[in-house]
Amino acid sequence: ASGGKLFANAPSLWLDKLPRPELSSHKYDRGHTLVVSGGATRTGAARLAARAALRIGSGLVTVASPPEALGVNAAQLTAVMLRGCDGPEGLHHILQDVRLNALVLGPALGVHSGTRAMVAVAAHARRSLVLDADALTSFEDLASELHQAFHYAPTVLTPHDGEFKRLFNGHPDILDPESKIERAHRAAVYTGAVVVLKGPDTVIASPDGRAAINENGTPYLGTAGTGDTLCGIIAGLMAQGMPPFEAASAGVWIHAEAGASFGPGLIAEDLAELVPGVLRKLL
Ligand code: AMP
Ligand code: MG
Repeated sequence: ASGGKLFANAPSLWLDKLPRPELSSHKYDRGHTLVVSGGATRTGAARLAARAALRIGSGLVTVASPPEALGVNAAQLTAVMLRGCDGPEGLHHILQDVRLNALVLGPALGVHSGTRAMVAVAAHARRSLVLDADALTSFEDLASELHQAFHYAPTVLTPHDGEFKRLFNGHPDILDPESKIERAHRAAVYTGAVVVLKGPDTVIASPDGRAAINENGTPYLGTAGTGDTLCGIIAGLMAQGMPPFEAASAGVWIHAEAGASFGPGLIAEDLAELVPGVLRKLL
């Protein structure tokens, strides 16, 4: 990236910042992650992210669910807590009275003004934030609408190529460069957020000029729901206090390593369960 530092993504880049629980720590010391669920027929994505946040070590994980989806979520959750959340006001209310460290918004929320309003509430909540999927796609120009907000708290955006193009549709200066690293870098500088531009060669770019290119992926990750799992991993790391560039880089690497350790037949449900095996080798 122009004037910045480019790294191959490897544990040496972030291992010293990977959370390790202290001997005396309890669940309240290990971060609380909130994942916002989609409606009654679109709840799986939030559960994938929530499960991943637990597996990466977040001490508490809550799914915030629209009222009509509470039943289906309740039937499917065990260690993950559940709260009713009716749109942006509901989210605002939850953020008032619960100590929450990191939020995941986007997967399966739907592309509409309600999602935009929830993102605006989340972006002003001064909590670590991972925005993906519909939280990105619901905006014409996310960065200009929320520009200052991303400076309040660590924010990570996790678009794949299509979402990236849609998100920066009005910004040829960001979309034009041939180099994926340069595109991610410019997007990070413009938004003030860490940008994870996903794909076989995921690039993680920080507004401060650092960028990492990931190399341990597997094409078996190209299956429904793996992106939702990645959101939960990154948010779970930030909930435990890991800074956003390191959390995003570690999250992408651990996610890819987990997928590669399984190989053929991998489905998103497997991924979170493979995280402990990867962590055991790192910690
Ligand atoms: P999404 O596009 O949101 O469904 O997320 C898909 C996830 O799988 C991202 O983390 C991608 O980086 C990863 N992924 C998809 N295809 C590949 C591939 N061919 N090689 C490595 N990783 C991939
Ligand atoms: Mg996705």
